[in-house]
Amino acid sequence: MYYEILTTERSRRDPRRAFRRFPSVRRTGQALYRIQADERKERKIARICRRRHYILKRKYPEQLGRSDNYRRAFLAQYPRPAGGYRCRYCHRRIPDAKLTIDHIFPVYMAKTGRTFPMRLLGIEDVNDVRNLAPACRRCNYRKGSRAGLWIVRAALGKYRVYWILLRLAQLLLLGVLIWLVVSSSTILAEWVWEIRQWSGFA
Ligand SMILES: [Zn+2]
Repeated sequence: MYYEILTTERSRRDPRRAFRRFPSVRRTGQALYRIQADERKERKIARICRRRHYILKRKYPEQLGRSDNYRRAFLAQYPRPAGGYRCRYCHRRIPDAKLTIDHIFPVYMAKTGRTFPMRLLGIEDVNDVRNLAPACRRCNYRKGSRAGLWIVRAALGKYRVYWILLRLAQLLLLGVLIWLVVSSSTILAEWVWEIRQWSGFA
């Protein structure tokens, strides 16, 4: 199991010292530490947390975390197409050096036990290649640990026809906007002309 520990204003001792009997303890963020330990050690961890005023934030099973080899598994399953991968969310081509592999259902969701929608689609593990998508850094960063509409975009982004339809819809919208601007400016010009007629400026 993984245990996440948060220090508070009252905690004086560095968790790396307090948990020195746990060699896996390491700092993972501002005031955040992580310990990998057997479930049988949980009571001990909880006791240290109480005594040292740490908050035992959450725990999650190891297999729900990000695996070490998901990137390799994805690249093996979906070899690089000619010209390189395209971002699943914006369809831009990604230079190889900037390719990131995104977890469509975020790792965070699995860790916090919200696995129902994922399992509904037959995905048991967040690192399943079906839950992975190529993404550019910008989209990956913007997505973060969000789900919702991003999941739909990831599912649709796989199909070329989606991008064609999306571009067509965008062109159509642009056409309508141009038509609105042109027709309204023609009407406006007519009004101006008429007002000038009435007021005798012509
Ligand atoms: Zn993108």
